[in-house]
Amino acid sequence: MYQVSIKKIKILGVEIDNLSFDQALIQVDRLIEQGRKGNPKFIVKPNTEIVTYAQKDPEFKKILNSADLAPPDGVGLIIGSRILKMQGRALQAIQERVGGPDLTEAILQLAEKKDYSCYFYGAKPKVIEKLASVLKKRFPKLKISGSHPGYFENDQVVIENIKKFKPDILFVALGFPKQEKWIVRHLSKLQVPISVVEGGSFDFISGEVRRAPKWMRRVGLEWLFRLILQPHRIRRQLSLPKFLILVLLNK
Ligand code: UDP
Repeated sequence: MYQVSIKKIKILGVEIDNLSFDQALIQVDRLIEQGRKGNPKFIVKPNTEIVTYAQKDPEFKKILNSADLAPPDGVGLIIGSRILKMQGRALQAIQERVGGPDLTEAILQLAEKKDYSCYFYGAKPKVIEKLASVLKKRFPKLKISGSHPGYFENDQVVIENIKKFKPDILFVALGFPKQEKWIVRHLSKLQVPISVVEGGSFDFISGEVRRAPKWMRRVGLEWLFRLILQPHRIRRQLSLPKFLILVLLNK
């Protein structure tokens, strides 16, 4: 496997890995190999909302910057990096968006191909049940070692369950910043080669929440589709203009 040399772009103090989707996947595979040697790794998926939120939560920002992989999830970060480049504050702009749910699906394909076992933690009980049956249909050879819904406060039960099943990949969907903090808190005792933050991916993959059509995703309008479907997200989506203003004003 060839080595990916990763360039980082710092946006509002958050380090983003500037790599293509294919390079991100190669890197994931490499991290799993390394993680299997007893040095667990974790992946975060920064987007504009996450970077904006990190401005008021230094602990969260530190966690993002300590991740083993932080690909750019969303077109907003690409725009932000172009602004920085135009202002001469970055040498390069982000080359490609690495969509969170798309990366998850690619990791699942990789897991099926390479026989990596997977554990899914988070989301509503109905979603996690649906997810298991959708995954069995879509990835028939995928090894699902276990799953547990979110909204569950007894960490110890989940931890014991994960330790019992010893997955190669742990997907955690508890919403940010909870999922990132949860992973970092338990990383060394879990000894799972790689942990991946998921946000709303389980809801998408299970079919519980519809994803934007491919053309909309391609032109960077996934946010608009989500807004039409879930108008209550308007406050969260306002983080994009807020993010852009912060990038423009931050010296
Ligand atoms: N979630 C969870 N436990 C919580 C909060 C959220 O399992 O305490 C799940 C939620 O059901 C969803 C995922 O975490 O599947 C992401 O939640 P969020 O509302 O942040 O969704 P996003 O906006 O990232 O799609």
